[in-house]
Amino acid sequence: MDSPKETIRAHSPATGALLVEIRATAPGEVMALLAAARAAFPAWRDLPIGQRLDCVTRLRKLLVERLDEVVALVAAATGKPDVEALASDVLVSVDVLRYYEREARQILADEPRRGTLLYRLSKFLVTYQPMGAVAVIAPWNHPLQLALVPAVAALIAGNTVLLKPSELTPTVGQLIAELGADAGLPRGALTVLQGGPEVGKALVAAGPDKIFFTGSLATGRAILAAAAEGLIPVSLELGGNDPMIVFEDADLGRAVAGATYGAFANAGQNCVAVERLYVQRSIHDRFLARVTEAAERLRVGSGREADLGPIISDGQREKLTGLLEDALGRGARPTTPIRWEGNRLHPVVLAGVDHSMRIMQTEVFGPILPVMPFDSEDEAVALANDSPHGLN
Ligand code: NAD
Repeated sequence: MDSPKETIRAHSPATGALLVEIRATAPGEVMALLAAARAAFPAWRDLPIGQRLDCVTRLRKLLVERLDEVVALVAAATGKPDVEALASDVLVSVDVLRYYEREARQILADEPRRGTLLYRLSKFLVTYQPMGAVAVIAPWNHPLQLALVPAVAALIAGNTVLLKPSELTPTVGQLIAELGADAGLPRGALTVLQGGPEVGKALVAAGPDKIFFTGSLATGRAILAAAAEGLIPVSLELGGNDPMIVFEDADLGRAVAGATYGAFANAGQNCVAVERLYVQRSIHDRFLARVTEAAERLRVGSGREADLGPIISDGQREKLTGLLEDALGRGARPTTPIRWEGNRLHPVVLAGVDHSMRIMQTEVFGPILPVMPFDSEDEAVALANDSPHGLN
């Protein structure tokens, strides 16, 4: 029996205005959608790869033709500045699609292997086979790139795809469905399921032939456990708490620019953001002054004039507030003012931090850069590795 059909309402993180209200996929519908994707699989798999790649080329060209509209849509969905939407979502997607168009034949080609003495008359090959109907579950922080690229990769290899975009950015999911249809993907090749964790759970429980998940550690863990029940192969792209280390012989200008970009691009909401910065003591104060200056110069806002936009949700805002309170309570010293305007946090640089603070131990996912001195290379490496996370 179908569950009640609910709606998702997506609001602009920048203005709070309602962006869209759409019908969510009911968890009870997911089995039938998976069956349809499985039914579409043999015909799609059996197409020559060139025909599958033609669809990808058309899709990429549509992205380029509709560039301004797509950038505006991604910027509205996430609140990120236009240049961020262009660079980290649209351009990356176009670039990677182009890469697959060029390389996929070779990536998927049979690979001959040498046999053993016993089987010297036999022929050995590694061949790449599609898996069937693949679930792609995506996050909101780069909602186009992180949904489209894995979906297209699976499609090129001959799989059909059930894509669940983040419930925070459903308009990007709608766009991908539209681009796929306009690019000529056959019915059932790419199905977009809209909704939140309940729909994601239903998709995993339905038993797709493979799951490709990008998102948080906690969700990744839950998906891996649920997938274990059905022995479903899973690829996980999770969060991190990534360190950057600056030694005294570094080019200071480049290191400051790298730290500033790494920590504050997309308002710090990047899986591979610079989350912790360790600077050799001899240059620590000079570096801190320069990175503080660079952080203060960044423009917080939206559209074309801004460098960073808002934090995606109230929940994330509360998490950042809690992490800052904990750090300040344990002696951290902000070298920039801690300034909130609605859900926008101006870049924060924190000195006087240590590993007793939660901000050094967990994925922050916001525009906060804690800076800590070190003396020796061994100490820097030990500090960098003193984390349960490992990503970048
Ligand atoms: P999230 O884990 O909250 O949600 C990701 C997706 O999973 C969403 O579509 C959500 O609806 C769905 N989901 C939630 N619970 C589920 C469940 N139990 N079963 C199935 N699906 C479920 O993550 P988020 O807040 O959207 O994204 C931010 C996180 O993603 C950060 O931790 C970030 O580091 C990580 N991330 C990682 C990479 C990478 O490539 N490693 C890239 C971008 C983001």
